[in-house]
Amino acid sequence: MPGFFDTPIEYLKGVGPQRSALLNKQLNIFTFGDLIQHYPFRYEDRTRFYSIKELTEEMPFVQVKGKVTKKEIIGVGARKRLVAYLVDDTGEMELVWFQGIKWMLEKVQPGMEYVAFGKPSKYGTRFSIAHPEVEVLTTKNEKGGFLQPVYPITETLRKRYLDSKALVKLQQELLILAKDKIHETLPGSIIKRFKLMDKRGAMRHIHFPENHQSLAQAQQRLKFEELFYIQLRLLKLKLVRKEKYRGQAFTDAILLTQFYNEHLPFQLTNAQKRVIKEIYADMRSGKQMNRLLQGDVGSGKTIVSFACMLIALGGNAQCALMAPTEILAQQHFKTLSKFAEQMHITIALLTGSTKKAERKEIHQGLREGSLRILIGTHALLEEEVQFKNLGLAIIDEQHRFGVAQRSKLWSKNKDVYPHVLVMTATPIPRTLAMTLYGDLDVSVIDELPSGRKPIKTVHKYDSHRLEVNGFLKEQIQAGRQVYIVYPLIEESEKLDLKHLMDGYESICRAFPDEAISIVHGKMKPDAKEYEMARFAKGETSIMVATTVIEVGVDVPNASVMVIENAERFGLSQLHQLRGRVGRGAEQSYCLLMTSFKLSTDSKKRIETMVRTNNGFEIAETDLQLRGPGDLMGTQQSGVLDLLIADLGKDTKLLQAARETAIEILENDPDLKHSDNQVIREQVARMRKSVVNWSRIS
Ligand code: ADP
Ligand code: MG
Repeated sequence: MPGFFDTPIEYLKGVGPQRSALLNKQLNIFTFGDLIQHYPFRYEDRTRFYSIKELTEEMPFVQVKGKVTKKEIIGVGARKRLVAYLVDDTGEMELVWFQGIKWMLEKVQPGMEYVAFGKPSKYGTRFSIAHPEVEVLTTKNEKGGFLQPVYPITETLRKRYLDSKALVKLQQELLILAKDKIHETLPGSIIKRFKLMDKRGAMRHIHFPENHQSLAQAQQRLKFEELFYIQLRLLKLKLVRKEKYRGQAFTDAILLTQFYNEHLPFQLTNAQKRVIKEIYADMRSGKQMNRLLQGDVGSGKTIVSFACMLIALGGNAQCALMAPTEILAQQHFKTLSKFAEQMHITIALLTGSTKKAERKEIHQGLREGSLRILIGTHALLEEEVQFKNLGLAIIDEQHRFGVAQRSKLWSKNKDVYPHVLVMTATPIPRTLAMTLYGDLDVSVIDELPSGRKPIKTVHKYDSHRLEVNGFLKEQIQAGRQVYIVYPLIEESEKLDLKHLMDGYESICRAFPDEAISIVHGKMKPDAKEYEMARFAKGETSIMVATTVIEVGVDVPNASVMVIENAERFGLSQLHQLRGRVGRGAEQSYCLLMTSFKLSTDSKKRIETMVRTNNGFEIAETDLQLRGPGDLMGTQQSGVLDLLIADLGKDTKLLQAARETAIEILENDPDLKHSDNQVIREQVARMRKSVVNWSRIS
């Protein structure tokens, strides 16, 4: 039965069919429920007035009141403007209009008192506000007003007069109607324990807060609720799987033991051994494994993934490994082929560019069971890819795939779901992991293979290039190899390519005796491959490249990474690039080259890189600097489409929400207690609207 909040938005007073179509298209607002959850993204502070003397340039928007003493038109052409001088007890300031001069000339009269609202800026010693909102001072507005909500809108909406102000009117209308329809969605015990505002109050104060405190309480309440239900869903998913989903029990480690004794290329680290044990325990349990394997760049996840494959292969099942890019898939294929060959196990690579005939052969081999390991990109998810008996699905994802895509792999086996291992090459901050991977068990490789020395990272200004080149010469003479990386960002591709080529030429001039490789995205794949191979074999000593090498070759002898225009890279990208060196026994270096002029954020990024090699710490800082939406690939995940909570900032709240959800599910897994009825109802409501919920029942 559709409820009040399912009412089409068209039926709200002041909307109608035309505006309704606009709201549908521009803001995805279809129902009353959608509108009421379209929260303001900021608030203009009309609660108080500032005196002119108090103004600073840092203030976002301020309200001042005073008398206009004089007005005049100054300047010509584009500089032509109307200036009104506003005076209060503490000083004088200017109100300035470049547009609508005629209109304002009539509206603003010397001798009258006004309230002006806008962003203050300073010219010389004097403050001014450009294009302020002005109102004549009245007994009504002289006391100050509310925190004025500002809603996200689009340019199209603005042009069609559906701006933030219009939305304010609609929200007011809706809140009056909705007053008695808003139900509490959290149990009383939780509200009491965390001293949360009730739902009805929160909905009112999030749109029309009385003061800063009530706004903060409303935000806190709604954030908690949002995070709580996400966590509850993920935890419930995990619980249900553990109870219900069988997995093939792989109890025979004979192949793994054989590989271990005869072919293992190096001693495994203790962390690698521990993780393999954890995974083996899952795979032999008879329950489906859903595990996340985290490990910094170079921590040796590949060999661990092969060890796990051997466990499944030993039980006569097949294995699949899915990577986010073609280059990564190829790299995995190359490494794993070597191992597979030693063990006489069939293996194939399937990507978008696999030829039709080969594709057919692969499909057949998989169905018949003669092909045992399949490596590939998301091409693996295609309908035609059917296994005889898929026992283990590994996803190397660098958080690029979402929950939905992950679960697609499950259906690749008919009777029993395959065991699933998700590997992330980039460490993920805890809050993000809790949300992106809250439904998985976690293993961490927290140790690098022995003999690796921590990479020394230094920041150098472009003006120190001679000194840097001198250092590179020393390193090359000592037999090392060097990467020099240039940024390549799509918007300015041409310019970047020019920088790269210019850079290449000046490096050729500075190192006339050295063989130098160059690799960039515009080159043909085989030309790229050829250059990378030359560098890998040590035939060239310098590799000039764009970020294509981020996921490319593994050259242990390369011990210096120079990153040009380092200020233009994101933190996790810098860390990934740095991970290309430090793979051999030699001391490795990372040189971050920048110009003198750096933004605050760039400075923070560079400082962080210089300070630490710890991927988790770096990811944490990255999250704080950029917010989760911008972190590598998380946009597609869907889990992060949060209405109000911010995973970068609401860490404590998230922790509390998760702990509460765990506690509730532990005591009452089916949410049968009367105190949890509210939760059960809300889950049912959300299940209707969110696809993912349906998996739980
Ligand atoms: P990542 O975790 O980034 O995927 P890889 O699996 O590519 O790391 O391993 C990085 C490098 O370290 C590879 O050259 C690999 O052969 C090597 N390696 C992995 N484990 C060990 C180990 N236990 N001892 C020595 N070298 C190792
Ligand atoms: Mg890897």
